[in-house]
Amino acid sequence: MFFSAFFFYLITPLFLSHTRAPYCLPNSPCFPLQKELQKLNASVDGRLIKAELYGKACYKGSYDEEECRRLAGVKTDFHWRDGLAAGLMHTNWEQDNQNRGCPIPDLPSDGTSPVPVDGKCELGGMSSYVVNASSVEDIQKAVKFAAKYNLRFRVKNTGHCYTGRSSGKGSFSVWTRHMNDAKFEKGWKACSGDQKQNVISAGPGVNVEELYAFAGKNGVVAHGGFTATVGAAGGFVLGGGTGPMGAILGMAVDTFKAVNTMIGQIGCKDRIAYKELVSRMVDLQIPLREKGQMGTWSASGVDLGVAILSVKPFTSAEQASNPNDTIEMFKPALAAPGCTPLVQANQIPTWNDVYQRVLWPIIQGVGPVGVNIAILSRLISYDLIHDQERLARVKAFIVDLPPDAPFLWQNAVGEATHKISPDATAIHPDWRNAFAFMDVAYQGPWQGVTAHQTATAQAILNNATAVFGTTAYYNENWKLEENFRVTNWGRHYERLLGIKKEVDPRGLFACRDCVGSEIWGF
Ligand SMILES: Cc1cc2nc3c(=O)[nH]c(=O)nc-3n(C[C@H](O)[C@H](O)[C@H](O)COP(=O)(O)OP(=O)(O)OC[C@H]3O[C@@H](n4cnc5c(N)ncnc54)[C@H](O)[C@@H]3O)c2cc1C
Repeated sequence: MFFSAFFFYLITPLFLSHTRAPYCLPNSPCFPLQKELQKLNASVDGRLIKAELYGKACYKGSYDEEECRRLAGVKTDFHWRDGLAAGLMHTNWEQDNQNRGCPIPDLPSDGTSPVPVDGKCELGGMSSYVVNASSVEDIQKAVKFAAKYNLRFRVKNTGHCYTGRSSGKGSFSVWTRHMNDAKFEKGWKACSGDQKQNVISAGPGVNVEELYAFAGKNGVVAHGGFTATVGAAGGFVLGGGTGPMGAILGMAVDTFKAVNTMIGQIGCKDRIAYKELVSRMVDLQIPLREKGQMGTWSASGVDLGVAILSVKPFTSAEQASNPNDTIEMFKPALAAPGCTPLVQANQIPTWNDVYQRVLWPIIQGVGPVGVNIAILSRLISYDLIHDQERLARVKAFIVDLPPDAPFLWQNAVGEATHKISPDATAIHPDWRNAFAFMDVAYQGPWQGVTAHQTATAQAILNNATAVFGTTAYYNENWKLEENFRVTNWGRHYERLLGIKKEVDPRGLFACRDCVGSEIWGF
């Protein structure tokens, strides 16, 4: 008796000052009544959306053959998913941790409609209510409403987060995607003493495709990601944000007069040849970087080959080299014994054209959405890239991956990143010593995450940690990290947690594997 009373007094002040979880969810007595939701809806000009079961036409009881066929055909389309209020890019996060949800079956190969799913169609891991914000005032109203009722609150922009941070079972979210205005401001200054610079002010919903197009219209190039539908001003920036020009632009805005590209594949006849090809690709990374080449390459054990997407920008037309020079630079890999290359080099005058004509058509094929995916990433440090013994282990890691787990090497970080002090921003200090980073993806069936998928992803992750170390790209990670605090932020974590406790003591802004989620939950 004494113990429990003492314990209560000891922990209560701490508990109250740092948490109000568990959050209030729909169907609980604490959840706002219809009339309160209606009042909120009126105050945001009818922009409160009750999430719909968008896959229900594929389920017994509400089956609609034609509609289900349409849904199965369109579910992997980036722009279609972008338009779903509560939907996400990857279906596993639309389900809860018991695979409850309403995923759409795959389209049968003969193009007929999938058979009706004999299961319950539920919201699963998706938000229950969404405020489709059109202004700062809408966001303020949504945040105040969530705080008043202690709701599980989420900010959703495009729903790309691989860790499902923009969703949550029973959550109430604000959707920023449609606040996608942009302004080109000449002579902008952050503070009165700063130097003037030209900047693009982008709304929180502007995506990569829109940013490149807007910059192109204004005769400049902006730093963004590889994938058109990723939000350029939301989670991308919060987690660091890397892209094709990351190694040279950092976050600056500049102009290119020509961009050389080389795209293509190299396929090998057997595993021995594939092993040699991977080894040559890894060895090429330093010489390519020294010559200003950027981009990505992927390796696939199923195809026994690699796919290359290489870019090199020039800030003056006079400096621009012959695009076939890129082919020459890749020669050691293109000439790997037992492998056949099929590559093509081009020169394109503007970055936006490069993106629309070359990069995006390829990228949408290699980074699928509308699927159930587990992903992991690791930074590739300068120490590693200069250490032959460790590089040998990297090569073995790539070749020994399960064949259906593709590997992606991203030369989207580098010299420009190092100009910033490691402690100047929240991102992991190891970024300031990163040469590149890599991802491995492991897909599961449309029905949801399986034990086999989780176990395989865990085994790959353990190997990756042994070979590359513990530091990951926060934005390209799943949920299996042993210590997400160390992996995502390293020594910055304690400082970030201190700030979080000060500015959000009730844990209103919460998400999976985020700062403070070990205290407030998510
Ligand atoms: C197919 C695909 C391709 C990708 N390609 C790249 C790439 O080329 N380069 C790269 O760096 N990353 C890439 N990513 C990772 C991407 O950066 C992250 O998924 C990022 O979190 C997406 O941010 P979002 O705002 O678009 O998505 P969301 O899922 O909507 O948001 C992600 C997180 O940011 C928070 N958030 C969003 N907007 C705000 C805001 N205004 N204020 C506060 N919090 C906010 C959300 O709450 C959530 O926690 C890719 C991801 C996918 C799925």
